[in-house]
Amino acid sequence: MVATEATFEGLAIGGKRVAASDGRTAPTTDPATGEIIAQVAQANAADVDLAVKTAHATYSAGRWHDMHTRERGQILQRIANLIRERVGFLAQIESRDGGKPISAARGEIGAVANTFEYYAGAVNKIHGQTIPVNANGTHMTFREPLGVCALIIPWNFPLVITGWKVAPALAMGNTVVVKPASATPLSALALADLAIEAGLPEGVLNVITGSGSVAGNALALHPLVRKISFTGSTEVGTGVMKQAADGIKRVSLELGGKSANIVFADARIDQCVESSLWAVYDNAGQDCCSRSRILVERPIYDEFVEKFVNRTKTMKVGLPTSESTEMGPLITASHRESVVNYIHIGDEEGAKRLCGGEIPNGDLAKGNFLTPAVYSNVTSNMRIMQEEVFGPVVGIMPFDGEAEAIRFANDSPYGLSGSLWTRDIGRALRVARAVETGMLSINSSSSVHIEAPFGGMKQSGIGREQGMVALEHYSELKSVFIAND
Ligand code: NAP
Ligand code: MG
Repeated sequence: MVATEATFEGLAIGGKRVAASDGRTAPTTDPATGEIIAQVAQANAADVDLAVKTAHATYSAGRWHDMHTRERGQILQRIANLIRERVGFLAQIESRDGGKPISAARGEIGAVANTFEYYAGAVNKIHGQTIPVNANGTHMTFREPLGVCALIIPWNFPLVITGWKVAPALAMGNTVVVKPASATPLSALALADLAIEAGLPEGVLNVITGSGSVAGNALALHPLVRKISFTGSTEVGTGVMKQAADGIKRVSLELGGKSANIVFADARIDQCVESSLWAVYDNAGQDCCSRSRILVERPIYDEFVEKFVNRTKTMKVGLPTSESTEMGPLITASHRESVVNYIHIGDEEGAKRLCGGEIPNGDLAKGNFLTPAVYSNVTSNMRIMQEEVFGPVVGIMPFDGEAEAIRFANDSPYGLSGSLWTRDIGRALRVARAVETGMLSINSSSSVHIEAPFGGMKQSGIGREQGMVALEHYSELKSVFIAND
């Protein structure tokens, strides 16, 4: 059990902890050791109904959106402050529950505090417009909250993504029911405790733990939910969009990716290799923005591959508790099996595995570890270049010229993120405009900034998170005309 200032027992509904009505619990485990960390309540449809009705009653009573904007902003700021104060504790939870290297987990918790701080500042800057119209009067718009928002979270960045949804939803005045992933339920429960401590009225932020097929499904179908914000796989997201059709719920989806990293021959190669390495191995490759297709212009292809493979071999795969660990385990044994299956597929498709794809022994044998794998001799139509592996597996492919780079980059059902490396500014802008992706970094692998929109094109999703634009996805625009006489 993690040394705790939070309790992981029960669902967080109406500011209290309640057991599942049928008393069911399930363990959450440490992916690095297989140890059980805590038993977590498993919500059924009746529990979900209670959580949604609680959020709805809280919303209808106006206890949150009728509060003065400055006071609401101050509460969100206090949540940010408490997250910062507890960074060590929250990072420990996130690291143990999800297998993240502790140093990475600390960075993520800091980012969650920044998210709450950003939206704390946004609360009293949300406003409508006055619009000149061809009539005798004044036309204006208001941004109104929606009501109860269902927020469904994946396991790869549990508290970061919870923050991306909860903070703008609350800034807009909504109430929420959060459904964390079964593999990583703990940090959302800790956030529920901390929000009450910060003064958030009971019933505004509710957390139901449990399986996607029971709790997630009941939440997405609940008639009092006005909006579903889902982050996860394209497969489950497709089902969520269908569930949202009943009752015309608002829906935003952040789904899978298979992003391209385009390296032109004039790139600063050493800087590019180091950055490209993290762009695919961060979080052991379990990152929707992972740039797992590296496209390299032919004149520097061999040099890039050699440098990338040499650096990959030095990646420190180890226990998340060690400060020097660069890559932890995969989330579950079954997820590792699915990644290992892709290694077999890559081998069978005729791609050349230059290193990695092995299960380590010794200290790491109890966890879901896998060494990072690099493939050359890949073609765009191979499954390892088309499907989201969601692990430390990358294919490096040569290209000839700008047009071919764009064609390869766009040869994907996804369009989430990506990078391009060149010192030619004209080319950088031409290619950036031509790649079908929601986000792109030029001479960088960083595309996640709380102030800027985040989201995908094509099968990577609908809607945007982060930045002021996220507030639009948690609100309705109301249009009001007042006659002059
Ligand atoms: P997942 O299997 O799709 O699950 C996501 C969430 O949905 C979990 O909370 C899951 O609960 C729940 N769920 C499952 N079935 C459901 C149903 N029928 N109705 C409602 N909810 C249901 O995804 P994951 O494996 O956790 O996460 C990895 C995926 O997320 C990858 O594809 C990755 O690319 C994507 N992702 C995208 C972004 C982005 O911003 N675009 C960011 C991060 C991750 P259980 O855990 O209980 O099954
Ligand atoms: Mg876990």
